[in-house]
Amino acid sequence: MSQQTNHQDRKNGIEATESRPWNFDNSVVPVTGAASGIGLFICRRLRSAGARPLLLDIDAQKLADAVNDIYPEHGDSSPRRYGYVVDTGNSADVDACFDAIRREHGAVTHAVANAGTSHAAHVLETTDDQWHRVMDVNLNGVFYFCRAAARHMVPARRGAIVTTASIAGLRAREERAAYAASKGAVVNLTRALALDLGPMGVRVNAVAPGIIQTPMQSNASTAALEHCKERTALRRLGTAEEVSNVVLFLLSDLASYVTGETIVIDGGMTARYN
Ligand code: NAD
Repeated sequence: MSQQTNHQDRKNGIEATESRPWNFDNSVVPVTGAASGIGLFICRRLRSAGARPLLLDIDAQKLADAVNDIYPEHGDSSPRRYGYVVDTGNSADVDACFDAIRREHGAVTHAVANAGTSHAAHVLETTDDQWHRVMDVNLNGVFYFCRAAARHMVPARRGAIVTTASIAGLRAREERAAYAASKGAVVNLTRALALDLGPMGVRVNAVAPGIIQTPMQSNASTAALEHCKERTALRRLGTAEEVSNVVLFLLSDLASYVTGETIVIDGGMTARYN
């Protein structure tokens, strides 16, 4: 290819990116934990960007409501499902779900491993069951989901995956041993997935939210949330929309040279050292 053609192609590429920045046409995007909070907002943003988000969640009732929210025009009689009840901590469940998605929508092009659960307990009070449940959902579930998604993407030699870690995966705090360990593992799993899948055209990145106003924070006291606000540079909590904006960027072609990275979305909370 001549230098001039190469330059022209790159110029055209930039123009195409500028006119359609997200470029999610014909994309099929399973999102876990999609019935609530951050996952639900990611689905809203994907839908308005022209993608076809598929909602995966363990809570059937909340999932039905969320599917109606994202696809109000599709009634119960729609031949295609847009919501899948799945426990992401169960490998067989996840694989069966991806088989059903392939039959009903074709191969997935992008994917968001967002489902998570949190458990607050002093390490001396944390039981084996509590430890294993957090690991099953927050770590094993991310692995099962990303592996299944990558199997859809690799034949096309193209795809992008985003995982939801947490600032708890970069720093620790009291009474969060299982949660912090699971999210720290997601950060490094994301790097390892990026290295295995990059040569096959698939990018994998993580977001690490700080304190975001979602149902997950509903048990936190007002005093605790006020304390968190004061520890951010921006003096406020984050929103699910602010997390979803970064997830869309990482999924999109705008992030075509970004992989193995974790982007912190915490209003500057982890920027401080005091
Ligand atoms: P949320 O509680 O509002 O939503 C979580 C969703 O995940 C729920 O709909 C729940 O039913 C679903 N889910 C839980 N276990 C599941 C399983 N085994 N299989 C399928 N679905 C399951 O929480 P959120 O705040 O939106 O959290 C989303 C992600 O963001 C989680 O991974 C969480 O750890 C992470 N995160 C949240 C915050 C925050 O402050 N809200 C901060 C950092 C990271």
